[in-house]
Amino acid sequence: MLLRQWKEPLEQLTLQSPKQTTVISSGFPHNSLNQQSFELNYRCICNHLIEFTRGKNLLRGQSFHAHVIKSGLQTIPLICHHLINFYSKVQLPYLSEQIFRETHFKSSTTWSSIISCFTQNELPFNGLEYFKLMLRNDGMFPDDYTFPLATKACAMVNSHCLGQSVHCLATKIGYDVNVYVGSSVVDMYAKCGSLGDARKMFDDMPERNVVSWSGMIYGYAQMGEDREALTLFKGALLQGLAVNDFTFSSVIRVCGNSTFFELGKQMHALCLKLNYDETSFVGSALISMYSKSGMIEGAYQVFDEVSDKNLGMWNAMLIACAQHAHTKNVFELFKKMKNAGMKPNFITFLCMLYACSHAGLVNEGKHYFSTMKEYGIEPGSQHYASMVDLLGRAGKLDEAMKLIEEMPMQPTESVWGALLTGCRIHGNTELAGSVADRVFEVGPVSPGLHVMLSNAYAAAGRYQEAAKARKMLKDRGQKKETGLSWVEEGNRIHTFAAGDRGHEISDEIYRKLEELGEDMERAGYVADMSYVLKEVGDEEKGRMIRYHSERLAIAFALIKFPKERSIRVMKNLRVCGDCHVAIKFISKCVGRVIIVRDNNRFHRFENGECSCGDYW
Ligand code: ZN
Ligand code: ZN
Repeated sequence: MLLRQWKEPLEQLTLQSPKQTTVISSGFPHNSLNQQSFELNYRCICNHLIEFTRGKNLLRGQSFHAHVIKSGLQTIPLICHHLINFYSKVQLPYLSEQIFRETHFKSSTTWSSIISCFTQNELPFNGLEYFKLMLRNDGMFPDDYTFPLATKACAMVNSHCLGQSVHCLATKIGYDVNVYVGSSVVDMYAKCGSLGDARKMFDDMPERNVVSWSGMIYGYAQMGEDREALTLFKGALLQGLAVNDFTFSSVIRVCGNSTFFELGKQMHALCLKLNYDETSFVGSALISMYSKSGMIEGAYQVFDEVSDKNLGMWNAMLIACAQHAHTKNVFELFKKMKNAGMKPNFITFLCMLYACSHAGLVNEGKHYFSTMKEYGIEPGSQHYASMVDLLGRAGKLDEAMKLIEEMPMQPTESVWGALLTGCRIHGNTELAGSVADRVFEVGPVSPGLHVMLSNAYAAAGRYQEAAKARKMLKDRGQKKETGLSWVEEGNRIHTFAAGDRGHEISDEIYRKLEELGEDMERAGYVADMSYVLKEVGDEEKGRMIRYHSERLAIAFALIKFPKERSIRVMKNLRVCGDCHVAIKFISKCVGRVIIVRDNNRFHRFENGECSCGDYW
């Protein structure tokens, strides 16, 4: 079998007299050779190598490589370039490196192939090392092909500083005005988060291409400057630029993050029209957009429609299922993905742990946590936070504490936050108090955790310390983020804060809430005042909690939206416990599906129940 695979290309190759092939084995071709036959042989080898590279056929490629060595042609720069490319594509970059080293005559193509090989195999430091070696090599200058490879590697290691020195070099030898080099510099700055530098470069460019536009849009999207990202995208379309899958994925992510669902759907339609809907890049962005907008059905559909799924796409679907508490599907997808030959990564396991934690599946969570090492992945602090969350919610607080002690790195704020949540749910005020002592000893923390810690003191009856902690926060001038909820109506986003009376139909909204309140009380709802932190009378507390931002947004949607349209409300903070109960009652009283996305997860309220099963 192996022999046949090996012989097939060989037969085609030796159509000319085999003797001549042997002559060539002395090395580089000389004039004494039959030039025509050499040309044929040489072109034939290149074509075969290109074919194997494209098909990622390791076995056939390797046997063919053996043949190339025998014929002595492997030192010819172009063949060497194709061999490096071949091993790069089959993800064996160190074999590419070996070929590179064995080549005596290195052309600029040989250099760029090895740099490209390492950047494509996610070894940016090696790529940069070769870029440096190339510069040291006399007479060798980077060109409009090598510069973009170097800037890409800088973006991968997220080093603005390294990138800047590559940019400097390009300017020195006059390549900065080249559209490919300039665009790659824009892209690099944007990916390193240096939007100012990226924009300056972008504005100064004499000519721009899809890479510079996409890089800029990606940069804005990444920094949460949604409006700017969308404006730029519109600009690109107006200029008749042929946008690519990368541009689309950035813009769709903007729609997902800001839950511009209507706009997101329009983007999906545009992708369909331009045939970009089948790429896994766009597919992953669409899945996350549908999922974040609460429309998991849309996510499933996109996932099924894309036939060639990459790891990012599997991960996007796993996250979507986990967020919507489709836990069974998470486990099934994990199996399917392994069967499809996908190797789970760091993110995959985060999804698995997240799903287990939100479904309260302790044993399964432990299983996946220990499986990580089998795949050669060391658990990161996020994985530990997820495990602590899982154990804490299940009431296994001692075990959670033990896990924190075992962490090979400093516990992060999310780890402590997860433990405090567990303490609160299970009323372990003593542990919460001692956690607060320990965390405050280390140094200042973010306002969110600070509030949790001072609440932990209060719950433990240590009021003086609680007051001190609160004062500390005030002195540092840090405020808790204002809770906002918003709802999308056509092209408009309506935003509400707690007790907000600024909306144009405010009176109607409050009337609706009064009405609802009566219906809910009849159905058995009693407000839980413990979620109001300020010290006010009970009647005042009732009023405050009744007008939390998500309730105002829901009331608005109930007034404005047709009955068949589901209600989707987004919130920047966690939904409080009382609102969670209240929305369950609302969904029952009005007989509608209400989807609330808070900063932690999804809640799909239907007929008095929530999809999260009260785990949030
Ligand atoms: Zn609330
Ligand atoms: Zn819920």
